Parts: sequence; C-alpha cells; structure tokens
Amino acid sequence: MSAIHLQNLVKKFGDFTALKTMDLAIADGEFMALLGPSGCGKSTTMNMIAGMEEPTSGKILFGERDMEGVPMGRRGVGFVFQNYAIFTHMTVRQNLAYGPRMRGAAKAEIDRRVGAIAEMLQLTPLLDRKADRLSVNILQRVAIGRSAIMEPAIFLLDEPLSNVDAAFRAVMRTELKQLQRQFKQTMVYVTHDQLEAMTMADRIAVMDHGVLQQVGTPFEVYNNPANVFVARFIGSPGMNLLKGRPAESDRGLVVDLGPLGVTPPLPDAIAPAVRAARADVLYGFRPEQVAVSDRGLSMPVSFVERIGARTIVHLGESESAVKAVFENDVGLAIGQTAIVAPAESSVRVFDAATGQAIK
Ligand code: ATP
Repeated sequence: MSAIHLQNLVKKFGDFTALKTMDLAIADGEFMALLGPSGCGKSTTMNMIAGMEEPTSGKILFGERDMEGVPMGRRGVGFVFQNYAIFTHMTVRQNLAYGPRMRGAAKAEIDRRVGAIAEMLQLTPLLDRKADRLSVNILQRVAIGRSAIMEPAIFLLDEPLSNVDAAFRAVMRTELKQLQRQFKQTMVYVTHDQLEAMTMADRIAVMDHGVLQQVGTPFEVYNNPANVFVARFIGSPGMNLLKGRPAESDRGLVVDLGPLGVTPPLPDAIAPAVRAARADVLYGFRPEQVAVSDRGLSMPVSFVERIGARTIVHLGESESAVKAVFENDVGLAIGQTAIVAPAESSVRVFDAATGQAIK
C-alpha cells in the first residue's frame, strides 16, 4: 500500500519546466533520498507526492491507488519541512499530543505514544517545557516527533536538518534512520547534502535540472556513476575526470592521457566497450582510490590540504587537475612532481560527447 510510483511525472510553472520527466518506483518501507543541487526539482517532486502541488502531467500511485485529486489530508502522509512548524505557545508534550488528540485518541493511548516518541527522540526531559524556550535544534526534533507520532505509512522530509547545527545534524541522521527502522515507513527524504543521503538512504535518486540522473544504492552511485554529473556530484571531492582517448598498449587497452604519463589498463569489465566506442573519453577515478607509485600519472603538486587525518593533494592544473585523498601524510609538498596511480578496478570511463558512462 505504501509503495510510491511516480510515472512520467512533469511539472511546469508557466513556461518553466521544473520537472522534465520523472519515473521512480519507491518500495514499501524503503528510505529513498532525493538528492541534487539547489533548483533541481527535489522539492517540486516532494510537494506533488504530498499533494501540495498538482502534476502538470503524469501519475502518482500509492500502492495501486492513483492520487490524482486526493487532497493532502487524505493521503496518509507525514510531512516535515526545513522550517519546523510547531505551536510555540504549547509545551513539547502538547505539541506531540496534538495529532493523536485531533484524531480522538484516548488519553491513555496519547500518553503512551507521546512517551514512546519522546524517548526515541530524547525529548523526555523536555516534555513540559514551552516550545518558545527551545533551541532550533530541539524544535526540529519536536517537529519530527509531531509527525512521526501519527505513524504515517509514508513519511516525507524536506531538508529537515538544514537549519540545525553540524553536531546535532550528525546525531539526527542516526535517530532518523532508527526511527524509520522502527516504524518501517516508506521514507522520502529531500536533501542537497550527500552525506545525509549516503548515510541514511537505502537508495538515492540523484537529480539535476529537473531530470533524474540515476537511482541506486549509495554504493552504486559512488562506485558506478551513470554519467559525468553523478561522478562529479557524488563524493567529496568528486570523481577526477581527465580527457583521453582509448589506445592499445602492451599492457592491454589503456586511455592515452597525452603528456600525463602511463595510465593503467582498463578494468576487464569495461575495456571491450571502451574499445568499441573508440571516441574521446573522460577517464575517471575516485580521489580516494589513488596510490603514490613509480609508474602512473606524473603531475606537479599544486596544493596540499590537511583535514584532520586526511590529506588532499591537488595535482596539475586547469583541465588536467586531479585530487588525491590519502588517509595519512604522504610527504608530498607543493612544487614536487608526484607519480600517482589510480587503482585499476576503480577506473570508470565516460563518453566525452554524451557524458554517459561506458559499460
Ligand atoms: P532547493 O533546495 O533550492 O529548494 P529544489 O531542488 O528543491 O531546490 P525546487 O524547489 O523543486 O528545487 O525548484 C525547482 C525549480 O522550480 C527552481 O528553479 C524553482 O525556482 C522553480 N519553482 C519552484 N516552485 C515554483 C513556483 N511556485 N513558481 C515558479 N517556479 C517555481
């Protein structure tokens, strides 16, 4: 019943098409993140699922049921926004109890549910505090609790953590995931923060400019990006992409990167397709999957960034710039020439003209 199907969904605002077309199947009980940069159409998609916006065309099904014309209040969805919507003149307890009370639940039942949700969201000591005395962090926790207490089969969250501070956000990521595990709702979570999507979601729908770019598990979108947009957007820093052409060598098919030096042979899984494509390509590898070597890409070190235990080494410049991330200090300094080798199995190749992964 609480699976969600978006079929050929389109949304126009006047002449502007915010969502070009969206086909997405979200399974019952799945945690799906809608991830993409600002303006890509995430909230528009979410608002249509919630029933706050009508699609221009296409269908939204909950289970087998077409949601066309079904108002927000009848869809059985819980919704939490970026800006918490809670009653500031009430206590935390009154806020949490509001929904069940409106539904006519018995007092004992309300008390039980408020107690359980407060415990889960660490609100128990604050239950009798007035909401106007609480921090933004806690208010957002109350807002999530107020929606969750209704035990909606579908829970929609639109950037719920973007106004809370970083330390609290980390705590809430864990709590939201636990909440979903416990209630087993279908969760749709809008965010532009890949860390949130990567840590919580079962699958991620990556969007850009009103177009769904890829749907996959966090592992899939990181390891096998469907195109150059996903390759660059996922990962921090994103995937390195260097212009090249497929070439034969005594070590098998490689990508010729011109003066940058020897590049490793392509993984067996993609080498035949790259050979068949014979086009200009983008040679991609993750900054985390690079080793200092005596054979590989020879590039000048342009900058060294130390972030705690990690070191990000910037190599080369402009179009042939790449980044390499090391978990320890590799002793490289600005001005040196470094030879780095991407792990062969991690190499991905994209058609330079279309941006699509060659598979
Ligand atoms: P953000 O995180 O910035 O909200 P988003 O991915 O959620 O980004 P949407 O809010 O879905 O993006 O907006 C997608 C595009 O549609 C944007 O260019 C936005 O300006 C436009 N848009 C959204 N709502 C309306 C509206 N009511 N009228 C006109 N244009 C709109």
